[in-house]
Amino acid sequence: MKSRWSDAEAGEFVARYAAQGVGEDLALRVYTTRLLGADPKLVLHGGGNTSVKTRMADQLGDEVEVICVKGSGWDMGNIEPAGLPAVRLQPLRRLRALDKLSDEDMVNFQRINLLDAAAPNPSVETLLHAFLPHKFIDHTHSTAVLALTDQPEGEALAREVFGQRVAYVPYTIPGFALAKSVAAVFDGNPDVEGAVLLKHGIFSFADDTRTSYERMTEFVTLAEERLQRGRKTFVRSQSPEKLARTAEIAPILRGACVISREEQAGAVKRQILCFRTSPAILEYLNGAELKRYSQQGVVTPDHTIRTKNWPLIVPAPQSGELERWKGEVEKAVTKFVAHYHEYFARNNARAEPKKKELDPSPRVILVPGKGLFGLGASAKDAAIAADIAENTVEVITDAEAIARYQPSPEADQFDVEYWSLEQAKLGKAAEKPLARQICVVTGGGSGIGAATAKAMAADGAEVAVLDRDRAAAIHVAREIGKSVLAIGCDVTKPDEVKRAFAEVSKAFGGIDIVVSNAGAAWQGRIGDVDEETLRSSFELNFFAHQSVAREAVRIMLAQGTGGCLLFNTSKQAINPGKDFGPYGLPKASTLFLMKQYALDYGRFGIRSNAVNADRIRSGLLTNEMVASRAGARGVSEAQYMSGNLLGREVTAEDVSQAFVFLARMPKTTAAVVTVDGGNIEASLR
Ligand SMILES: [Zn+2]
Repeated sequence: MKSRWSDAEAGEFVARYAAQGVGEDLALRVYTTRLLGADPKLVLHGGGNTSVKTRMADQLGDEVEVICVKGSGWDMGNIEPAGLPAVRLQPLRRLRALDKLSDEDMVNFQRINLLDAAAPNPSVETLLHAFLPHKFIDHTHSTAVLALTDQPEGEALAREVFGQRVAYVPYTIPGFALAKSVAAVFDGNPDVEGAVLLKHGIFSFADDTRTSYERMTEFVTLAEERLQRGRKTFVRSQSPEKLARTAEIAPILRGACVISREEQAGAVKRQILCFRTSPAILEYLNGAELKRYSQQGVVTPDHTIRTKNWPLIVPAPQSGELERWKGEVEKAVTKFVAHYHEYFARNNARAEPKKKELDPSPRVILVPGKGLFGLGASAKDAAIAADIAENTVEVITDAEAIARYQPSPEADQFDVEYWSLEQAKLGKAAEKPLARQICVVTGGGSGIGAATAKAMAADGAEVAVLDRDRAAAIHVAREIGKSVLAIGCDVTKPDEVKRAFAEVSKAFGGIDIVVSNAGAAWQGRIGDVDEETLRSSFELNFFAHQSVAREAVRIMLAQGTGGCLLFNTSKQAINPGKDFGPYGLPKASTLFLMKQYALDYGRFGIRSNAVNADRIRSGLLTNEMVASRAGARGVSEAQYMSGNLLGREVTAEDVSQAFVFLARMPKTTAAVVTVDGGNIEASLR
């Protein structure tokens, strides 16, 4: 790897932050921390940390010696000065004289020595940085260094590469003890330029930013060059000739990997999936010894909180054989869970105090022939698990290419997985009601559909916005957020519906909630209306709902975790309007379609409900239409829009709340919720 240091860029950082009152030391620290953080071969999702020792003024204006060290919750790639909280250095250094310090006491001591009480918690490796004398310290979990040291002969290999230039520290869980052992090793070798923490990562240090950063890039380059020498490749195993599609296998895997299911109560704790594949991933997955090298444990212990200690391996899925494959997947998950329980019991026996077992469901699934899946509580968490799994593939491939992969022992991995300071990184915020669910909204590009897509996302669901107008779908998706999917789809074409739903399954792992909303109004007196108009309306206002529901149910059955169908019907389905037959007739059929799905699929936990809304400004009822109708009745627009029992205009947001409400009601099916401000002729029961 090359150094990406630039004097000009470094100067820009210093100038930019000087304007915000940030000193040069910290500005440069931000600059090279970002250089390191931008490279996934060095650090991933909160891994790694950096520090600088400098002087700052406290509240009284007294200059104090501080260490600015990466705070938890910050990623190195986009760090700001606020992400490197300043801690008084001298009190931290005095801790070295202690024999013992608990994690809780360490965290507390670090916090009470912060200059800013509102700053994030300084890294768990703060004391390691504090006990060393160097001004700048850089720490990464470099892929190449891990491949070199995650070996039975890891230390010998590392010594061959780095010689006397670095200190070698045996694996110890981060915290006070590790900080002391690094400091002791350093005392014996005061001229070293860095330290290799076996089976964990690498440190570089120096008294100026650039040297410390470039020592890191140089060490990593040396490791990379060693990995290129004497490379072996994996021996391939046989896989089926024709493999099933990713969109078909994802819902089966997702259903098998739920965290808990209380089917009677309708409560299922699901996971979201993130699929990855590449030639390197396939090479790894198709290796004859996959079962050996993939099950040794994580490449560096802090990955356990995201990926658990091992991935689940399932057989390659042969096309046309998915029923049989589903049985094999379920067996593999049962075995995985049993294995996890044993791992927990075995390690908890020696743990003090005793731990509470975490959920045993897989966070990474390896599918030979296809690729890998990351799993998590949200699309974001699933992507993090997938990033780490991809990185793991790289480390193990490199490790096996020169010798044999062997990370730190299970006991060390367990200690990190169940370490309170690691679990704290995941956060304990309560989940939103629709978290872990995947929601598709048709006609999501505007009006009620757009409002519903937003409301579902605000309630925690992962959302896919489908619209015939792809640009409109993209616009709404962008308004909601990064992980929202936008798909162009004409729901009157069953093939497009299939393709769109497959895209959702591939992106998130399946589908739980479908808001079948797309519709349009056709008018005409029923005795004169031409055949073509009536049929067009039936295509969109009835048959499209059927193909959307049919495709959704197919995926929901593959998951086996129930589901929720929601139809946008209309006042016309219950109370026909004059000359509105072409619209009302298919909508009335859709109301029955909703009931039919409730009847036929209730036993699978699939609920089916409808929202009956009326007089909402939208693509169906445009502002021009409102003006002309109001004019025809001789009332103002506002009077026309609020012409209901409550005298209040009903908005798309009001309707969206009814869809969210129905999505949240685990024991409601075959119901219609009316959102029309009150219209006695169109009321149900
Ligand atoms: Zn580390």
